[in-house]
Amino acid sequence: MQRRCVLATGNAGKLREFRRMLASTGLEILPQSDFSVPEAVENGLSFVENALIKARNACHHTGLPALADDSGLVVPALEGRPGIRSSRFAGDKASDQDNLQKLLVEMRPLREDERKAHFQCVIVYLRHARDPVPVIASGQWHGRILHEPAGEDGFGYDPVFLPDGQEASAAALPPGEKDRLSHRGQALRQLLTLLGDD
Ligand code: IMP
Repeated sequence: MQRRCVLATGNAGKLREFRRMLASTGLEILPQSDFSVPEAVENGLSFVENALIKARNACHHTGLPALADDSGLVVPALEGRPGIRSSRFAGDKASDQDNLQKLLVEMRPLREDERKAHFQCVIVYLRHARDPVPVIASGQWHGRILHEPAGEDGFGYDPVFLPDGQEASAAALPPGEKDRLSHRGQALRQLLTLLGDD
């Protein structure tokens, strides 16, 4: 499979992971910043809606096929928050650090068994802006929220996420190991399989 597409994200952490995971595949990604694509208005109510909005926006402004990832952290005991607002949990201009601290504060009153959480990732591939048959893949990564941040790698909520079966946070995992286990790794492998048949 040889394909070229725009990656509809301005998130440096996501771009790094996509580049790493796609390095030895036939799918080449160009960041949307190369084309000065304006930010899409993410006004969907679910990950899949927002991924479609971002991919369509990137297709529309570049005329190329586009790949978009909408992802976030879901805490069932917080009714699914931060969810689709993960990157803006502490406000529109919030840093990863602000978001993670807000999460730790909101989780303080919860019992230990209510600290369960999962990362959700939906990846959408659109051949063109009016593509009626988007290719959609998803992945989930289960674990629990730690009481304080640990680890130096990764991005977003990685320092407070302890994946099931691991002894250290997602920010302490070697990058290849995060790719093997993560929501994004699972979704991307599923997408590559679907595109292989396309
Ligand atoms: P999006 O760019 O609107 O999809 O928001 C994604 C947000 O979800 C990021 O800014 C992070 O806060 C969070 N997130 C998604 N994937 C990860 C991950 O792999 N590790 C840590 N945080 C993540």
